[in-house]
Amino acid sequence: MAQSKHLSNLEPWQDPKAQPYVSIKNITKTFGGRVAVNNVSLSIFRGELFSLLGRSGCGKTTLLRMLAGFESPTSGKIFIDGIDMTDTPAYKRPVSMVFQSYALFPHMTVEQNIAFGLIQEGLPKDEIRDRVNEYLELVQMSGYERRTPAQLSGGERQRVALARSLVKQPKLVLLDEPLAALDKKLRERTQLELVNIQEKVGVTFIMVSHDQEEAMTMSSRIGLMNEGRILQIGGPTEIYEYPNSKYVANFIGSVNLFDGIIVEEKFDHVIVKSTIIEKNLYITPSASVPVGAQISVAIRPEKVMLTDTQPDGEYNWTNGTVKDIVYLGDVSIYHVRLRSGAIVFATVTNSVRAAERPIQWDDEVFLYWKAENGIILAM
Ligand code: ATP
Repeated sequence: MAQSKHLSNLEPWQDPKAQPYVSIKNITKTFGGRVAVNNVSLSIFRGELFSLLGRSGCGKTTLLRMLAGFESPTSGKIFIDGIDMTDTPAYKRPVSMVFQSYALFPHMTVEQNIAFGLIQEGLPKDEIRDRVNEYLELVQMSGYERRTPAQLSGGERQRVALARSLVKQPKLVLLDEPLAALDKKLRERTQLELVNIQEKVGVTFIMVSHDQEEAMTMSSRIGLMNEGRILQIGGPTEIYEYPNSKYVANFIGSVNLFDGIIVEEKFDHVIVKSTIIEKNLYITPSASVPVGAQISVAIRPEKVMLTDTQPDGEYNWTNGTVKDIVYLGDVSIYHVRLRSGAIVFATVTNSVRAAERPIQWDDEVFLYWKAENGIILAM
């Protein structure tokens, strides 16, 4: 998976001495009294592919547009490579933007589209030709020079748009939902191509997305936004495995949430009494939580195991009736209704054909999970 390449690189955000390439400091933007971006501070490092992720209207595009210089902040500062760019106009920033709708000139050929910015800069003809060829090759579009955008597929158009942005050798590329217009299959392929291109040229990418799978596949880190604020910043694995709130846990993938109260706290575990299941939960948390605290335990569906025999021990299991089996090809998601009425989801890998499955609709089943797979979240 593409993300592993990023994770194997050095992680500058772990190094307190590393200088961020982009620094967003206490940025707020209001439109007619309504807050779109609310006191956001963020550091992004050279060579990162950083995604701003969140629901429609959470403020991610507004933040990106302020980085590009298309919008000015109501308050706060933006630094790029250590230089205060807050009041610098868009055309003077070392930034290039790739839009969702490609924004190619329809009457120009692929070659003319890519060369456009370089001609405006007044570069010599030979250099323009060499640079255009180099970037056509980079996006694997050599041979398409004479076509117009109407003669290209959506994925090809987006690759030309990317080449047009990169050919000017910007230090920072901002991408506004760059793959949203592509169908699912093509989008998945283009995600990996984009990551490969970004790694080859080593330019910093900041991308806006509302698609969590896309952000997880492509990003070095993700900033998850809601209502103008950043709720959590972290690598894909960190955000998935250690969400810091119920909102983040629900937004990234699906999750089972067991609301409850801490009834025992020891140095290596806590015990949670939940209103949803009869057995208590025994969890090995990363932070200490006091007895009496109202919390929620999050357990991912793929960490919940299904069986038709009663598990041993007094913790971390429950039972119920299979109410639905959602078949997704490689896996199936079992919806199990507990006596309390709550539904728990369990993801099971389909190693046998559907008809041979040992557990079927309306079967009584047991669900269990490991102590280390529970995440304690504030209510
Ligand atoms: P989407 O995924 O739908 O593009 P988003 O997270 O990118 O959403 P923004 O476009 O940043 O959200 O918008 C954040 C909020 O600011 C929204 O409530 C939006 O209506 C508002 N907003 C954005 N631009 C303007 C504007 N020019 N004038 C007034 N309100 C605006």
